[in-house]
Amino acid sequence: IMSSTLTTTTLEAPLPASTLKGNDIIHNISRDRLMDLIHSISENQETPQPFYLLDLGTVERLMHSWKHSLPTTKPFYAVKCNPNPALLAALALLGANFDCASQAEIETILGLGVSPDRILYANPCKAVSHIKYAASVGVNLTTFDSKGEIEKIKQWHPKCALLLRIKIANDHTSWRPLGTKFGALSDEILPLLSEAHLSGLKVEGVSFHVGSKASDSAIYRDAIAAARDVFEAASKLGMPSMQVLNIGGGFKDNSLFSEIGKTVNEAIKDMEAAATAPLSVMAEPGRFFAETVFTLVTNVFGKRVRGDRREYWIENGIYGAFNPTAYDRSFMAFKPLLLSDHRSKEDEDSCGMLWPSTIFGPTCDAMDVVATDCKLPELQVNDLVVFYNMGAYTASAGTKFNGFDTLSTPTHLAYTRLS
Ligand code: PLP
Repeated sequence: IMSSTLTTTTLEAPLPASTLKGNDIIHNISRDRLMDLIHSISENQETPQPFYLLDLGTVERLMHSWKHSLPTTKPFYAVKCNPNPALLAALALLGANFDCASQAEIETILGLGVSPDRILYANPCKAVSHIKYAASVGVNLTTFDSKGEIEKIKQWHPKCALLLRIKIANDHTSWRPLGTKFGALSDEILPLLSEAHLSGLKVEGVSFHVGSKASDSAIYRDAIAAARDVFEAASKLGMPSMQVLNIGGGFKDNSLFSEIGKTVNEAIKDMEAAATAPLSVMAEPGRFFAETVFTLVTNVFGKRVRGDRREYWIENGIYGAFNPTAYDRSFMAFKPLLLSDHRSKEDEDSCGMLWPSTIFGPTCDAMDVVATDCKLPELQVNDLVVFYNMGAYTASAGTKFNGFDTLSTPTHLAYTRLS
């Protein structure tokens, strides 16, 4: 095991998955052994500090699952969700493409040796400097949803093909709808298509995002139907170049995923049957590939006892990986790991007792609370708290607030095979 990232420079040709295996990666371990692994990593630390464990075996399994459920839909991993270099390298090796939203994200992906035609610049409103950069490195596909964006792209990157991002009415079926900020409204679609066409830009297709954590597969069916209407409208305007359908993100690694797969595949089949040209289907999954593959291990560095209550401090909080807890605690799943050599006689006696407990983050903000009203066994300073499913919009949205640098938490790599 190494606290390292994969540094792979030539990823142009897909490399065999075995390339991921090296001395720094643990092979064929079961989920149960993760805890042993965590123990051994923490025992080898000179000073206790938090770390992530990235399970590359699960990344591989998720890619199989994607290919099984959505065989004709090319995944463009949404880098914003978690730009961990080892995750990106693994996804690149497994054949994923990438959704980048900024110059820095494009630089990161190109830096892995991924070719620019595997990148979609999926941000409907871009700064001119970023557009110029995309032009200079040959990233030639982007999204748009406004007249102003057409003008910028025409001026600074006229070779760039476009996908019209449309707004999807999804207020009830997604946990975090994106339509308030993004997507052309229905009465804006025709004017935008005409404007882009008249400007000499190539509109290649339609994109949408149903919102993060979609809870109903029908939302994809309805969104694809709306996209299909746009294809028909474009054809009436004499725009023959439409062939790309981008179904965005919103997927989770759960039982709904295969149902979404069936719904999407059926809708694509219907659309293809009615189309005059072959359809190229893509998606922008973020959470699907990142959420479950990261485990965050934190060490308790402070403790206070107030009557029955136990209060603990850990070295990551709402200004770091726990920023999603500001709007959602449903992803939180954690388990304390008691290190036996710290146990006192009283602890042993109270073994099995659970105490009402709070876990604080490290900063001086009183809002920096990771978990409240949970029942935990008696923990001691240097015990560990292991948080599962910590890969989506966690580290990527972290900060250095108050001098607590949550961005440099090291990542250890594991390779687990569950089968
Ligand atoms: N694509 C775009 C344009 C997004 O804004 C997002 C998330 O905000 C994603 C893809 C990834 O979404 P998810 O993580 O829900 O799959």
